[in-house]
Amino acid sequence: MSVIIIGAGLGGLSLAHGLRRAGIPCLVHERDESAGARKQGYRLHIGGDGDTALREVLRPELHELFRATAGRALPHTNVYDDRLRLRTRLADPGVHLNTNRFTVRQILLHGQEVRYGKRFTRYETDADGVTAYFADGTSARGELLVGADGINSAVRRQYLPHARVVDAGLVHLYGRIPLTPETRALFEPEMFAVFSMMLGPDRTMVGFAPVDYPEPVARVCARLVPDLRLRDDRPYMTCSVGARWEVVGHPEEELAAMAPDDLRKVALRLVDGWHPLARAMVERWDVPATFPQPIRTSVPIGRWEPSRVTLVGDAIHAMSPAAGAGANTALRDGAALAAALAGAPLLEAVAAYETAMVNYGFAAVRESAENGRRYLGQRPLTS
Ligand SMILES: Cc1cc2nc3c(=O)[nH]c(=O)nc-3n(C[C@H](O)[C@H](O)[C@H](O)COP(=O)(O)OP(=O)(O)OC[C@H]3O[C@@H](n4cnc5c(N)ncnc54)[C@H](O)[C@@H]3O)c2cc1C
Repeated sequence: MSVIIIGAGLGGLSLAHGLRRAGIPCLVHERDESAGARKQGYRLHIGGDGDTALREVLRPELHELFRATAGRALPHTNVYDDRLRLRTRLADPGVHLNTNRFTVRQILLHGQEVRYGKRFTRYETDADGVTAYFADGTSARGELLVGADGINSAVRRQYLPHARVVDAGLVHLYGRIPLTPETRALFEPEMFAVFSMMLGPDRTMVGFAPVDYPEPVARVCARLVPDLRLRDDRPYMTCSVGARWEVVGHPEEELAAMAPDDLRKVALRLVDGWHPLARAMVERWDVPATFPQPIRTSVPIGRWEPSRVTLVGDAIHAMSPAAGAGANTALRDGAALAAALAGAPLLEAVAAYETAMVNYGFAAVRESAENGRRYLGQRPLTS
């Protein structure tokens, strides 16, 4: 069996590692020109699902490297009001790791063969296999095609054209604050051990959490995986300001065209009158790293017939960030599909994977939408 994977994101790379460990040939095709072509230096919360998946698919020393570059977080979220009065602690037992997205991706890329500059456009299936076509005029042939191409998946659009991705009614402005002795002093000690959110009027939110490497990254690499050089090893506090579109007051195209410093001005306006910490954080954002992220979500659909085409990650179950579950679910998909393919004939394996994935994946979409509705004013999934 040979597997064509479209997309070198978290889901596609988790699958690629799992397949290699099972001795199943695969090749990853990525539209970006290189691994670092897009900025991806923000925090990812990895919980039990993501960590278990990584343990299953990665070589032990790569999983150890992942754990050694991740900060441990306490199993709760602190919810403050806009005056920084602690309103509640939301308990969430289990593993909680603060990781840098690009670090996780670099670990996942290690030892994988990725063809860059390959933008998938369409596929054709026949009795013996499937052919994927790319924008550069080339093609790839295999027995299974896996769309791991994210929220705007071209594979999904051809395969399941009725599956919708809708606007959640929210936008987040993402920033990061480099951690120095001066900026560290802004925060209470517990804020380095949890995800914190301040909730203000109109359900505007400021969320913040650290990415603080427990040990110098170069030293961990030298100890565990000497042929890997990780970049992006400076600690920061990730800090996003989220609100409903009408509160932000700028349409999507306008925000997308704004310079990072203007985005920061929008964020400053949104926290005007809040506790001084909110303003102090936004004022210290690393300006060039600021970006707007419109929040979209998949709408769950019913089962479909298994075939030589399947989907993992955001390509089938994109979700709002309100449960910190999108990356975790994508990693889980990769591990689950690899395990299924290692243990059964192709169509049986795809059917077993999709039965499980449709349950847990859409459950995560629903839970994220419900959290988003309760805390941020996300639109209900049905509308
Ligand atoms: C700012 C932010 C913060 C987040 N924080 C968290 C968090 O804390 N915890 C969490 O669990 N989740 C989080 N998420 C969600 C998480 O990032 C996604 O759920 C996850 O990246 C999905 O992985 P994926 O592999 O399915 O898709 P992606 O990571 O989007 O990867 C898709 C890949 O496919 C490639 N691609 C796209 N189209 C094509 C094409 N036509 N041909 C070839 N390649 C293509 C893309 O270039 C990309 O490399 C966050 C998301 C954002 C934006």
